[in-house]
Amino acid sequence: MSQSVCILGVTGSIGQSTLKVIDRHPEKYNVFAVSAFSRVEQLSEICQQYHPQYAVVPAAKVDELHQFFKLKNITSTEILSDESGLIAVAEHPQVDIVMAAIVGAAGLLPTLAAVQAGKRVLLANKESLVMSGDIMMKAAKENKALLLPVDSEHNAIFQCLPQNYLQLDTGGKPQLGVSQILLTASGGPFLHHTLDELSKVTPAQACKHPNWSMGQKISVDSATLMNKGLELIEACHLFSIQEHFVTVVVHPQSIIHSMVQYVDGSTLAQMGNPDMCTPIAHAFAWPNRIETHVPPLDLFVNDTLNFKQPDTVRFPALQLAREAMKSGGLAPAILNAANEIAVEAFLKNKIKFLDIPKVVESTLNHIQNSNADSLELILETDSLSRRYAIQLTNSLST
Ligand code: NAD
Ligand code: MG
Repeated sequence: MSQSVCILGVTGSIGQSTLKVIDRHPEKYNVFAVSAFSRVEQLSEICQQYHPQYAVVPAAKVDELHQFFKLKNITSTEILSDESGLIAVAEHPQVDIVMAAIVGAAGLLPTLAAVQAGKRVLLANKESLVMSGDIMMKAAKENKALLLPVDSEHNAIFQCLPQNYLQLDTGGKPQLGVSQILLTASGGPFLHHTLDELSKVTPAQACKHPNWSMGQKISVDSATLMNKGLELIEACHLFSIQEHFVTVVVHPQSIIHSMVQYVDGSTLAQMGNPDMCTPIAHAFAWPNRIETHVPPLDLFVNDTLNFKQPDTVRFPALQLAREAMKSGGLAPAILNAANEIAVEAFLKNKIKFLDIPKVVESTLNHIQNSNADSLELILETDSLSRRYAIQLTNSLST
């Protein structure tokens, strides 16, 4: 029977790859609901092609979407708006699978709603887990939701872990013979830049990733290595382990997507061409496998794989994230909020590339940390951190 899919953030890079995977399996999956934030015309084209029951946009975009629907004679899709619309489709009783592919903190409540409704949740929106890790993981357990990693590294780790690992009570330590997780990082477009060169890089250069084509925010995060920092926190929550069991390995070719080491000396790696359709298809079908258009890895072409330590002097964001995870509580939410503000300011040419970690560090030092045991507190801290980070970016503004 066909499974109904809700794609939050359908117009984005992950949203588009999700449609590509569905296109190859029209008998298995149908698009039930979609959402977009700004690209309304693109959303209307998606509605014309996939006939979802619901499309969700910000309230300010509803009229524009109606106009496009009229123009294209789309009558079968109902328009919902704002966060309440996103939550309604994420927890809709007819939905089987939710692709959480909104970027940033805006994805938190809809993703959590999907988890609380016990869905199969394909998690791309790492920021939501970084902000609310304990609450999200507890909600997944209590509601028997399947929270499956789409982030290529976490999907790789998941594939290399023993079966049923996600269901274990680990007490923060690796179990079943696992000793260490090796989280790979491409190193981003500025891997070999000096600090002096880094001080001058532009948003366009930061958004040009050598191996992956992604949204702007995650591209900048990859360039600062904050993406790896967020992923370190994501891994700790998904696999219930303390941060010192996760080692970051720079692997510029992005062929190995991460590894798991075992006490007997084994290291298991998941490899493949860098294309998000592979982890998306894996999360759709797990524990089965479905075909994608991604060609098999040709090791005679990709015949050199390199590995090195990350440089935390040129890329301090990774260390900031590790320390935030070590501190625990609200620190990861503060880190995430400050980073979102700083990245936005950098993309608008208001601050420099090397200011991004400075804004994050200063916000972490300024906003008080405490236990992150309620969603209200997390959301309140998120907005406090944003306010402080905005002041900082304004004062740094060139
Ligand atoms: P993107 O910028 O290409 O797309 C973001 C999507 O979110 C768009 O559909 C946009 O309409 C929607 N959106 C943006 N702001 C919103 C808001 N305030 N409210 C509601 N919707 C909003 O981003 P992306 O590269 O597809 O990344 C999406 C998520 O997946 C991010 O959390 C990212 O870290 C994660 N991720 C992406 C990749 C990748 O290869 N692109 C890989 C791993 C993880
Ligand atoms: Mg990743």
